[in-house]
Amino acid sequence: MSKQVQELLEAYDETQYSLRPQTLKEFIGQETIKERLHIHINAAKQRKQALEHILLVGPPGLGKTTLAKIISNEMGGGFKSAVGPTMERLDLATILTNLEAGDILFVDEIHRMKGYVQESMYPAMEDYKIDLPVGQGPSADIITVPLSRFTLVGATTREGLLSGPFQNRFGIRIHLGYYTDDEIQIAINQYSNRLQPPVEIEEKAERELACRSRGTMRIAKNLLLNVRDYATVKSTGVITHAVAQEALEFFSIDELGLDKGDRDYLSTLIEKFSGRAGLKSLAVAVSEDERTIEEVIEPYLLKIGFLSLTPTGRVAADPAYAHLGFPSPQDAQPTFF
Ligand code: ADP
Repeated sequence: MSKQVQELLEAYDETQYSLRPQTLKEFIGQETIKERLHIHINAAKQRKQALEHILLVGPPGLGKTTLAKIISNEMGGGFKSAVGPTMERLDLATILTNLEAGDILFVDEIHRMKGYVQESMYPAMEDYKIDLPVGQGPSADIITVPLSRFTLVGATTREGLLSGPFQNRFGIRIHLGYYTDDEIQIAINQYSNRLQPPVEIEEKAERELACRSRGTMRIAKNLLLNVRDYATVKSTGVITHAVAQEALEFFSIDELGLDKGDRDYLSTLIEKFSGRAGLKSLAVAVSEDERTIEEVIEPYLLKIGFLSLTPTGRVAADPAYAHLGFPSPQDAQPTFF
């Protein structure tokens, strides 16, 4: 296997995953999804067959990678992972021909896989075979190589960017939703016990962090790690409610969990563009790339009703004006009576 392909197949790093739940039971929340996966996994195991291909859809940090690894743990096969955008056709062929029966191939950001690479995936997914060129130039022959019965688990933040035929080849499609504050609080409590060394945290502080995690497990974990550092240096190391509040203020996380990037986005939209702008202009004005805006910043603002997407652009909603202390656009309009 070439070095490049080795790099594509990211090594499974235990430390990176040490806070990740390892089984469906340990995975917090997303009850319907867990129930569905439990059924599919057990049915496949009973039939001694590979699982159908699975597409995991949802904003970043909700647990797509974690679930892919859990599926592999529960099935008891191998786990290989690759990142969609960097993959070329030959890389894919090398990865696929090295898979063993029952292996999970996890492809992150699968919507960013090049179109022709996606297409060469079709026969692999459907008929477990791949066409490979032998030799070079016009005299090159094509040989068909059979593949082991693997399961492709694709993760995407943008399902709509996958072509229809590609989407249809995933027998199981799962949409992850944001977590409740209660679920996030449970996770924060578990993380604080699993950290080395464990960190002492008051229940009220867990709640405070949970409410400011934007319904996202990755944010909860990062907040906990940042606040732990703050408590270590500025206090006794114990995360009391007061220390948590102080630290969150220090890290510029407001009471809704919005960070400086979110607030800059909203205030630019309101102040510079009078509350309505196209993606391109907005991206330039906040010096952020369009993809980060669409995939990281906007989904949560849409969820909490701070933003709407219209054919004429992004529109800031009343609650966003109120939250940032701007007069509502209705109040600012001139009156003619
Ligand atoms: P995604 O692949 O959707 O971006 P990840 O699977 O990388 O998200 O999850 C981000 C982090 O959040 C991981 O470190 C994982 O430990 C944690 N996490 C995600 N979902 C859960 C969950 N349901 N319960 C506990 N921790 C979770």
